[in-house]
Amino acid sequence: MNPIVAHTPAELRDVFSAEGLEGYRAAQVMRWLFRGVRDFGEMSNLSRELQARLSREWCAGPLALVERHLSEDGTEKLALETADGARIESVIIPEQERRTLCISSQIGCSLDCSFCATGRMGLLRNLRADEILDQFLHATQRLAARGERISHLVFMGMGEPLLNLREVVRAIRVLTDPDAGGLSPRRITVSTAGVVPRMEELGLTLKTRLAVSLHATTDEVRDELVPLNRRFPIARLLEACRRYPIPRRDRISFEYALIRDVNDSDADARRLVRLLHGIPAKINLIPLNEHPGSPYRCSEPERVERFAAALAQSRAPVSVRRSRGSDVFAACGQLANLSQRQDTETGEGRALAVR
Ligand code: SAH
Repeated sequence: MNPIVAHTPAELRDVFSAEGLEGYRAAQVMRWLFRGVRDFGEMSNLSRELQARLSREWCAGPLALVERHLSEDGTEKLALETADGARIESVIIPEQERRTLCISSQIGCSLDCSFCATGRMGLLRNLRADEILDQFLHATQRLAARGERISHLVFMGMGEPLLNLREVVRAIRVLTDPDAGGLSPRRITVSTAGVVPRMEELGLTLKTRLAVSLHATTDEVRDELVPLNRRFPIARLLEACRRYPIPRRDRISFEYALIRDVNDSDADARRLVRLLHGIPAKINLIPLNEHPGSPYRCSEPERVERFAAALAQSRAPVSVRRSRGSDVFAACGQLANLSQRQDTETGEGRALAVR
């Protein structure tokens, strides 16, 4: 079966034409898909005959929705299965005005950050653009059922997007195409642990927003937390940030997971202010999400507060990210095919039956 999302709108028009279908049908089908309708039989402006033909030869996308986990705070994790039987996870995070979707760019991850559950799995493989896009389509379908749509997209799920840049760029081009996803690139954030040479390429290629996972203020500590730091140490990373083309009034987000007695001292806060001096930055503090098998602990709430207060000297806006969806292992650094394990370990029946 040929997945529709493996094609850009322009490509799909050509493929349809080559198959003897009217070119404008491609735009109709794309519009339905990106409004959350995956079933050709529900695309009511297509003839029955065309619906039947598309259902025989095409599918919406390559992923099957196999599980949904709804958190008490409204966060919803989707477990999706690839054609070769691997699991990936995407998370829908509802906030007042926003509906943010957090998607994966790889199955597993090669970076092995010591505090992140995904790192434990190693890298299985890169996702293709159609697999990246299908996460968006499945989430769109879920939200459409409630009359809602995705407003923001973050590449903060499993994987390092800059180590799969070609497919990530292809997917983002479709997501921002007015004839497909129609999202503004300013509502898409690509998060990186700091693959310095690719940051430049990203900045030249797309107008998306950038997030950098900093997590430490000395190379000694960052070497331990983010082993990629041994190749691209803090000074080089921040130099790349200074060179990064940022539109006026915009900022780079710096993610900083607060880990008890590792990176959460007053001295760290002071160093962080100094490091980011002169960079249009905002700082996202994420109290560490603990997970089984990790020696790291979350900073105490008072420590988080003091750390945030110490950053007030910096010009950068600081936010403390409330952890979302941790009861269903959907929070940052918890995506790692844990869904099955969680169900058997706790016996909790939060996994909703799909369909
Ligand atoms: N590889 C990219 C994309 C992953 S984004 C990157 O590193 O930016 C996921 C974010 O969650 C990153 O900032 C990551 O460092 C952070 N994270 C990973 N494990 C975490 C944990 N246990 N608690 C809090 N944040 C975590």
